[in-house]
Amino acid sequence: MEKDKKKKAIVMLSGGLDSSLALKMVTDQGIDVLALHFTSSFCRCDGANACGSTARKVSGFVGTELKIVRVGQDYLDLIRNPKHGYGKNMNPCIDCRIHKFKYARKMMNEIGASFIVTGEVLGQRPMSQHKRAMMIIEKESGLERLIVRPLSAKIMAPTIPEENGWIDREKLLAFHGRNRTPQIKLAEDLGINDYPCPAGGCLLTDSAFSRRLKDLIEYGTLDINNAELLKVGRHLRITPDFKFVIGRNEKENDILTVLAQEDDIVFEPKEDVSGPTGLGRGKWDEKMMNIAANAMARYIKSDTDEIEIEVGKKSDPKKTVILAKKMEDNEIKKMMLV
Ligand code: SF4
Repeated sequence: MEKDKKKKAIVMLSGGLDSSLALKMVTDQGIDVLALHFTSSFCRCDGANACGSTARKVSGFVGTELKIVRVGQDYLDLIRNPKHGYGKNMNPCIDCRIHKFKYARKMMNEIGASFIVTGEVLGQRPMSQHKRAMMIIEKESGLERLIVRPLSAKIMAPTIPEENGWIDREKLLAFHGRNRTPQIKLAEDLGINDYPCPAGGCLLTDSAFSRRLKDLIEYGTLDINNAELLKVGRHLRITPDFKFVIGRNEKENDILTVLAQEDDIVFEPKEDVSGPTGLGRGKWDEKMMNIAANAMARYIKSDTDEIEIEVGKKSDPKKTVILAKKMEDNEIKKMMLV
C-alpha cells in the first residue's frame, strides 16, 4: 500500500447531521471526496426538507461532487427477506447497510477511490451502529478496515487509511452513544447549520408503515408503486386479492390519482359532493366495489346516508355510479391496516 499520500474517498452522505460533519472533517483534511447519497421509496423526508436536497446543500457548502442513487428492485428483494433480520419494525438495517456499502465499493473501484467514510457514531443506533454489526457490515460488503468513521474513529481500531496516513487519525474524534450535544457543538464550530433531516428519517422504522408493508409482503405485492402508495391515505385490506386506499386530504387525493395504474379502479364522489379519492387495486367484483364505496362514503361530509360515487378505470371516461351507504367505524376498523 502506498503510504502517507492523501487519497480519494467516498463519503456516504445521508443529509443528516452526522454524515455532514464527517464530510466536512474529511474535506478539511484536503482529501478529494465524492459524496454518495441514497434515496428510496422509504425515505421519510420530502418537499423542501428532502434529505436529497440537504445532501445537495451540504455538498455544495463543502464543495464536493455529489452522486445521488435511487435504490431499486434489488432493495425490495432485500426487504422481503433480509439475511440479518429486521430491527424493531421492518427495518433491515444490517442488510440495508451492506447493500449500500457494496454499491459504494463498486463505485470506489470505478472512480479510483481508496476508502469509504461514514458519519456513523459507535453505539448511536441499536441495530447497525454497534461494533459487532459494524464488523459484519464491513466484512460482507468487502470493505474490511476500509471504512473510516471520523466521529468515533479514536475509540475504534485504526483502519488501513489511518495506518497509511491517507487520513490523519489525530484529527478524528471519539464520540459515542446517543447524546447528540457534541455533534451540535461541532456543527457550530464547522459552520454547518442546515441539517433538517433528522437521523433515522426512514419509514421502515415506523410501526404503522411497517404494518402496511408487512401486508404487501404477505400478499406478494411488494413493488415500487405499491411501496409509494403506502405513504398516502388510509389502507384497507378488503380481500387477499383486493386492497383499497382512501385519500385523507387534497394532496393525498392528487397523489392517488397519479399513482393509479391502468388496471386500478378510481373512486370519486359525484361532481356536486366534495370528498376523498379512493383507489382500488387487485381483483374485484361488484361486492368488493360496494364494500370499498361504502367505506369511502364514511369519509364524505354529507347530510344523507346514501352518496353517489363514480367508479371506473383512470383512463376510461366511462364510469359506473354506485349508491354507497356510509359504513360503520367498527366495520372499517376490521379492514384497516394501521
Ligand atoms: S434506518 Fe432505514 S435507511 Fe437506515 S439503515 Fe435502517 S433500513 Fe437502512
